[in-house]
Amino acid sequence: MSVCECDRNGCKEIVCDKYIMDHKYRLCWDCFHELEEQMKQWPAMMTRGEVAQKIIDFVHSEKTCRGNASEVVNTAETFKELTRDTWKY
Ligand SMILES: [Zn+2]
Repeated sequence: MSVCECDRNGCKEIVCDKYIMDHKYRLCWDCFHELEEQMKQWPAMMTRGEVAQKIIDFVHSEKTCRGNASEVVNTAETFKELTRDTWKY
């Protein structure tokens, strides 16, 4: 296993410069930008554990294509995200 391979599930990009989660995972810029895009959809307030879990979930999620605005998501999971903290607003 190459020390420089992206850890995203299904991604074969070779990278050396982007480490996340205290160097636990490596991501290529493509995947990292996708992670940043997904992050915008996450609840504004979560526990550190939840944020960490979401990052781990992303790393384990299959890479589909560049940009994921139309990505098919897990309905139950996304519903939970979208309805979280409803009472605060
Ligand atoms: Zn990647």
